[in-house]
Amino acid sequence: MATTSTSLESHSTITTPEKLRSLLDRQRAAFLEEGVATYEVRIDRTDRLIALMVENRDEIASALNEDFGHRSYEASLLTDVWFVIDSYKYNKLHLRDWMQPETHGAMFPDAQARVEYQAKGVVGVVSPWNFPWNLAFDPIGYAIAAGNRVMLKPSELTPATSILMAKLANQYFDETELAVVQGGPEVGAAFTALPFDHLIFTGSTKVGSAIMRAAAASLMPVTLELGGKSPTLIGRSADLGDAVRRILTAKTFNAGQVCLAPDYVLLPKELEEQFVLDAKTAVASMYPTLKKNPDYTSIVNETHFSRLKNWLADAELKGAEAIELNPASEDLSDVAARRFAPTLLLKVTDDMTILQEEIFGPLLPVVTYETIDEAIAFINARSRPLALYYFSNDMAEERQVLNRTISGGVTVNDCMTHAFDHSLPFGGIGASGMGAYHGKQGFLTFSHARAIYRQSKTPEAALLFRPPFGEPVKAFLEKGITK
Ligand code: NAD
Repeated sequence: MATTSTSLESHSTITTPEKLRSLLDRQRAAFLEEGVATYEVRIDRTDRLIALMVENRDEIASALNEDFGHRSYEASLLTDVWFVIDSYKYNKLHLRDWMQPETHGAMFPDAQARVEYQAKGVVGVVSPWNFPWNLAFDPIGYAIAAGNRVMLKPSELTPATSILMAKLANQYFDETELAVVQGGPEVGAAFTALPFDHLIFTGSTKVGSAIMRAAAASLMPVTLELGGKSPTLIGRSADLGDAVRRILTAKTFNAGQVCLAPDYVLLPKELEEQFVLDAKTAVASMYPTLKKNPDYTSIVNETHFSRLKNWLADAELKGAEAIELNPASEDLSDVAARRFAPTLLLKVTDDMTILQEEIFGPLLPVVTYETIDEAIAFINARSRPLALYYFSNDMAEERQVLNRTISGGVTVNDCMTHAFDHSLPFGGIGASGMGAYHGKQGFLTFSHARAIYRQSKTPEAALLFRPPFGEPVKAFLEKGITK
């Protein structure tokens, strides 16, 4: 375990631009002094990340429970502890290979061309509240595997978790290796104005856009992991019962507070009635009750709880039919408990907020279509989503859907699973983000692919660009400029 000179108290007061800058300078100085972080150093830091998660799993889950009002213990361990540890283990398995320089063919036989993957320096991480450990400590794992130092600014909406992160970072790492800064949007703005060597931001599209503007000042490279409305398209050949079970599993996970949640369903018109029946069965089998069910997570705070209530009211006012999936017909009006029943919305129209904004909760609009072309046009008329889900057993239609839509990622015949496979890049496109991490892509994102060329000793190599351009150069150009 690392010894550290900085106390937790002093970390929590690093909020002014000057103090943040000074922390960045200390990290950068340590990075430069270290030179290249060796494989062994990176493995040691990754092992300390693993130890931090394994040894504090219960504290992590309880802080999450406190922050959400109620959060499923097992769900917390699955997404915010196990997944992250698994990702660290994946990095350990592949790191030696990823760190190898790539040898390329050179212009002259005795020349050498290669790419070395160099750590960038200090990486800034800004993370959201919905999977606080996953979305902060997973990117941190890749940044550290790539040999960088890291400063994290987690969300102010999960304060118990953010304090625990600072405490544990302080306990397992020196502040020049990993430091956690506390604060809300104001500190976030000062944090993202720092000239990091790379910044990864996970959060809303609106804040992502502000961050990109701030990053432009120092030409700081950014990875933006944003949100959006992920469409869930059910084809006519799909196994409907299976599709509905999987969609509702994803939509009720973390009570729909997931960037990758199926945001709305596109369904052949004639299947709507059966979809509703299957959805009732699916929810009843997973959550016979909702009010005190330990597996069902609360909405994170009152603001988000009333936002969802308002969006539901807006949809109903404009003609939507709401079907509450509340198997025991419990009274869920207690604002303090913030349990929100999964709710289907039929007869939805474009003027409703639920079809315009990312829902981030257990409301599920169902849009019906007649032809697959119509469904594809519906998706393409909207911003490019983080994910697309497609249920079908028709390979020709699947190819058509994949070819004619664009999204960050795709899961066929399930929801969200592409993001759990460490070997696949994870990221958005357009309004849902830019850049990606996970797997080798995570290592590459936080590395600089440095081109290194060792020149040949042959006289031609020295003379090619040196005037006077005589016959040999003319002959060379004559030979090269051909079709
Ligand atoms: P948010 O954008 O409000 O906040 C995210 C982080 O940015 C927080 O740490 C916050 O303090 C900070 N922040 C806020 N204003 C800032 C500013 N002006 N400058 C700098 N930092 C600032 O997002 P949120 O409500 O915490 O999270 C929900 C959003 O995140 C949803 O849109 C969701 O889709 C998205 N999300 C995306 C992914 C992904 O991997 N693509 C994952 C989870 C959540």
